[in-house]
Amino acid sequence: MTESRTYDVVDLIRRKRDGGVLDDAEIDWLIKAYTRGEVADEQMSALAMAIVLRGMTPDEIARWTQAMIDSGDRLDFADLGRPTVDKHSTGGVGDKITLALAPTVAACGAAVPQLSGRGLGHTGGTLDKLESIPGWRASLSYDEIRRQLDDVGAVVCAPTDTLAPADRKLYALRDVTGTVESIPLIASSIMSKKIAEGTSALVLDVKVGSGAFMKDVDDARQLAATMVELGASAGVRTVALLTRMQTPLGLAVGNALEVREAVEVLSGGGPSDVVELTVALAREMLAAVGLDDRDPADALQNGQAMDVWRRMIRAQGGDPDAGLPRARETHVVPAPAEGVLIRMDAYAVGIAAWRLGAGRARKEDPVSPVAGIELHAKPGAYVRTGQPLLTLHTDEPQRFAHALAALDGAIEIAPYGSRPAQPLILDRIG
Ligand code: URA
Repeated sequence: MTESRTYDVVDLIRRKRDGGVLDDAEIDWLIKAYTRGEVADEQMSALAMAIVLRGMTPDEIARWTQAMIDSGDRLDFADLGRPTVDKHSTGGVGDKITLALAPTVAACGAAVPQLSGRGLGHTGGTLDKLESIPGWRASLSYDEIRRQLDDVGAVVCAPTDTLAPADRKLYALRDVTGTVESIPLIASSIMSKKIAEGTSALVLDVKVGSGAFMKDVDDARQLAATMVELGASAGVRTVALLTRMQTPLGLAVGNALEVREAVEVLSGGGPSDVVELTVALAREMLAAVGLDDRDPADALQNGQAMDVWRRMIRAQGGDPDAGLPRARETHVVPAPAEGVLIRMDAYAVGIAAWRLGAGRARKEDPVSPVAGIELHAKPGAYVRTGQPLLTLHTDEPQRFAHALAALDGAIEIAPYGSRPAQPLILDRIG
């Protein structure tokens, strides 16, 4: 890293604003100076907005990613007895895939170091979901992570404080300055954390649709290709699946509700879309580390994945046998007409669950473990007037009206015909 000189941050902001390019030394300096607090939040947010509007070249993205990795420690699991592989989702509604996936892949012989995030806005976070299990602890030291990977094979926990601190600071800033939706910023944010985490291979689940950051399939493809390239140049075998996020995944949205559904999948049941995506991502992860002779569908059916789940939860202080909390109040939304359900919008359901208390508005806010939404039908189903379509859950009934308002126009029922089947997995890149 070049540290010998400093730059005028306003010049760099102006250059990016006018469509220019930052060089390696400038990017290294910027990320370091911002992490140390020498570049102010308002300057970084102006630069982030310039990047949203003007983009970055591939060289700039690669350097920005490397500078964020270099802002902290890079974990190393190369000497574990088994290969490491991780998965990252760009975020969706009802996306509880990690919960069953990590133990399934570990049951098939790989080690899964999953350093996960919390939810913000309408998308849920894996750590918030797991924290609905009594006693479960998200924060582990590097030694605890290592020990758990050795003993159990899977760990899902919060990133250590020293992992890509520049991204932690920048992501929090982007979240409150309307600068999340940028392919260079999303790609560098995700990949800096995943490369620093020390995994040898990575499978990305890039979500496309109303409930995702990328609404458009071409943007999602470009995001996926950018991340695959960043992974490959850092020596991390990286593959991306583009998957549909137009309707929530599974039948549960909200923290404890989603854990319950993941446990159903680990018991060999669960909704077909959740099982399909879990198995598809597990196959990709196992293939990426040369374990493609193992069948993750078998591990879900024969109890091996469940066994790893139970050990993984216990290792982090949780009780896998403790009952999950339930909301004190529920409200049923009936079908307004008879016919084929053709749309149940992921974004609207995500916002409604968030308003019920499942998500947070500011990163310091607590989330409710019990709030959320159960779906009783998915697009393609035939429904009769008055039949329950959704059940809203919360401990605070005054939240129902605001949540119901989010669902206005989110559900469409067609009196005739059927809805063409829509594949869940749209493309594979890598
Ligand atoms: N997830 C991340 O970690 N970073 C982003 O920028 C978007 C989603």
